[in-house]
Amino acid sequence: MLSVSDAFSLTQQHLLQLPTEQVPLLEAQNRVLRQAVRADRDFPPFDRVSMDGIAIRYADFLTGQREFPIIGTQFAGQPQQIMPEAGTCLEVMTGAMLPVGVDTVVRYEDLRIAENRATITIDDLEAGQNIHRRATDRRMGNELLSIGTWLGPSELAVAASVGQTQLTVTTLPRIALISTGDELVDLGDTPLPYQIRRSNTYMLRAALKAVGINATLHHIVDDEAVLKDRLETLLSENDVLILSGGVSAGKADFVPTALAQLGVQKHFHKIEQRPGKPLWFGTKSGETTPDPDRINPDRAVFALPGNPVSTVLCAYRYVLPYLRMSMGLALAPVRYAQLGKPVVFKPAITYFLPVQLASNPNGQTVAHPLPGSGSADFANLLAADAFIELPANQSEFGAGEAFQIWLT
Ligand code: AMP
Ligand code: MG
Repeated sequence: MLSVSDAFSLTQQHLLQLPTEQVPLLEAQNRVLRQAVRADRDFPPFDRVSMDGIAIRYADFLTGQREFPIIGTQFAGQPQQIMPEAGTCLEVMTGAMLPVGVDTVVRYEDLRIAENRATITIDDLEAGQNIHRRATDRRMGNELLSIGTWLGPSELAVAASVGQTQLTVTTLPRIALISTGDELVDLGDTPLPYQIRRSNTYMLRAALKAVGINATLHHIVDDEAVLKDRLETLLSENDVLILSGGVSAGKADFVPTALAQLGVQKHFHKIEQRPGKPLWFGTKSGETTPDPDRINPDRAVFALPGNPVSTVLCAYRYVLPYLRMSMGLALAPVRYAQLGKPVVFKPAITYFLPVQLASNPNGQTVAHPLPGSGSADFANLLAADAFIELPANQSEFGAGEAFQIWLT
């Protein structure tokens, strides 16, 4: 069987090649940038006043002058003014261009103003203070946002500040989330004693939504022919299928056979891990798509075991990193936490334990294993912040030992 890291690298070897598209800036939130965004002018574009007050010549202050006649006001959004003579001052507002002939700004808090004269009430001034000099943040032409940037609020503000009305981003993958299982009924239905409501696909929908993807929901009964038929259609309409259930060794677990019959090439089935051992991953390439704009017809299929905790683990450990990378994002930075208490786990497989995170007074992250960790129920995950990955080659894990964590 396959190790966790080998399974993970197999997924990374079969990333989707998603095309790009242009979207208006207002619609670019939570998308992945596929163009560089450069400064169209210097940042700031002029010597900018950064405090409300007066602007003077520092040389005048050095001669001992403290009282300055006010000969005008430079507001933000006005063309640059000129100080007519030495020994005078101009009132200046935050965001205004620094007038010609002055070089130092004294804020109102350090002034007394009466009868159109400003008196400086402090003894120390720094030459050039309270001025944000042109091009001190970025120069025209500097790269502000690079390819592969996730577009959040600050990134969109930067794009707006350089006048990018449109942005080139990765086209979102079309994803179908498919639950399988005859015991599963929909949300609004009342389950019979032998039935349960399906919840996995709702978890997956929300997890994908958090990375900007709106996936569609589907349900298929445990019938090999029906499964094959529905999967064939869904494969033709989507870039990625994420199935839950029907992938283990049960007599109604038809998913691997159906996928094989549909020409999806299996890259792995089963990983040396708990939970989530039966995870299946494959791709299908070379088909033409009904949509002529799609330049890459590759399909990826993840079939996740139906046990809800397995589904969550497989989603955060394999599926989401795969989608992030396919969309052109870097993998999320590796994170570690120290175990809050010792754990013993004998089987020589990777053990993913749901944990609650806290920090200790040294600023280290501590992972507290949750009671009922072996359970398959979502309710037991409510308190979990992450899974801690306890490696296969170890069976006793000490309190304070650090391991990688996967945030959920
Ligand atoms: P399976 O992987 O199909 O053998 O399912 C394993 C367990 O997960 C069974 O107890 C299923 O009832 C349960 N299960 C499967 N799919 C879902 C789902 N979408 N929501 C909640 N539980 C599920
Ligand atoms: Mg099932």
